[in-house]
Amino acid sequence: MNIKTYSTLTKQKVIIITAPSGSGKSTLIKKLMAQVPQLAFSISACTRIARQGEQNGVDYHFISLETFKEHIKNDDFLEWEMVYEGKYYGTLKSEMQRIWAQAKTPLVDIDVKGALKVKDQFKENALSIFIQAPSIDVLKQRLEHRNTDSAESIQERLNKAHYELSFANQFNQILINDQLEIASQQLVEIVKKFLSL
Ligand code: ADP
Ligand code: 5GP
Repeated sequence: MNIKTYSTLTKQKVIIITAPSGSGKSTLIKKLMAQVPQLAFSISACTRIARQGEQNGVDYHFISLETFKEHIKNDDFLEWEMVYEGKYYGTLKSEMQRIWAQAKTPLVDIDVKGALKVKDQFKENALSIFIQAPSIDVLKQRLEHRNTDSAESIQERLNKAHYELSFANQFNQILINDQLEIASQQLVEIVKKFLSL
């Protein structure tokens, strides 16, 4: 991609949502997308294996490490991170362009470090939102009730959450996800205001 063309495009808007795992980010994003059709989900590339029910090109572009490295070399990523040990995730510039070409605003669901990188590139054209559970105890309960992770994986996510929470005040908005319906409505309002809807 022509770099000049892309830097012109960063004048477009982007919504960035990040959160410690288990905070309710996926739940809130699903509700947001249903209420704001002007948004489109940016499908990241990643090197992990698809989970049951996940579809290539819908949930992620599931690619090999070799292909991922090729994309890095070609400067195809807006940002990329090794989010978990040996597992790479990245936002493709082409994905953002695909969405802008539909006159929609991309919503990127990415980890805290990636989120700050995108925020830095888009500046006032980015709305960055950090979603937070009311407490670490509630976060732990949500991860346990979700029933998708082993005890070891839950502990790993909780350890990471402490680190991620230390970045919360670098985002434009912190949204506490206590009562789901209230948090969902707040998120819709924040996004609509940013998009002047
Ligand atoms: P994330 O995408 O941040 O990892 P999820 O959306 O998967 O989190 O939510 C984690 C778990 O918490 C899920 O089982 C979800 O149904 C539940 N959950 C989400 N928001 C709330 C809330 N406000 N109150 C209670 N449970 C919630
Ligand atoms: P999961 O493997 O559970 O789908 O996602 C793990 C984490 O990777 C989540 O925190 C998610 O937000 C993050 N993630 C997904 N896509 C990207 C991406 O393109 N870039 C970065 N930096 N993180 C991502």
